[in-house]
Amino acid sequence: MAIDLHFECASMSIEGHFYRIALDSAEVRCDCGGYSLRWCSHIEATLVYGERGMVRPEHRERADAVMAAAAKFSFAAPPEWKAAWRKLLRWRGLTPSRVFHPSTVGESGRPVVCFTGAMPRPRKELAAEAENAGWEVIDGPHRLTAVLVAMDPNGKSGKLQFARRHGIPIVPLDLWQAVMSDGEIQAS
Ligand SMILES: [Zn+2]
Repeated sequence: MAIDLHFECASMSIEGHFYRIALDSAEVRCDCGGYSLRWCSHIEATLVYGERGMVRPEHRERADAVMAAAAKFSFAAPPEWKAAWRKLLRWRGLTPSRVFHPSTVGESGRPVVCFTGAMPRPRKELAAEAENAGWEVIDGPHRLTAVLVAMDPNGKSGKLQFARRHGIPIVPLDLWQAVMSDGEIQAS
């Protein structure tokens, strides 16, 4: 029996653009071209991890069918593959209001993060990463700040004192990557 199943998955960077992911005989292809034409974040997120936030809503059932059918084939990322999609909260449909309490979302509608202390990496780089992952980055914390990332969470900077006064979670830099990607703060 010939299998002809496909669905559309949103581009991460081009607003309103969708790629076509199709299962044809025993092969999954995404027309983004992907990684060595065999694998891409679209395939991995939708068919390996079952995420549906980036699938065109009317195609979500088809995506389930493709996923079920693809599971019968050997289907794995190339060994050197590095997934880069997990931190793209918006693409994954994890809007800040679903992840965070609304009071921690700033005027931009995104969760707000602020950094304090000398960081081992350039602040600009950290800020760009956070913005790509769906965060708003501010220089000084205000009450709607979701997280204050600190080199030394026990420090005495004005930003840290402000965060303590207002109950803003303070996250050490080494835990920030996980918080940024998952959009969740582990209670400590
Ligand atoms: Zn793709």
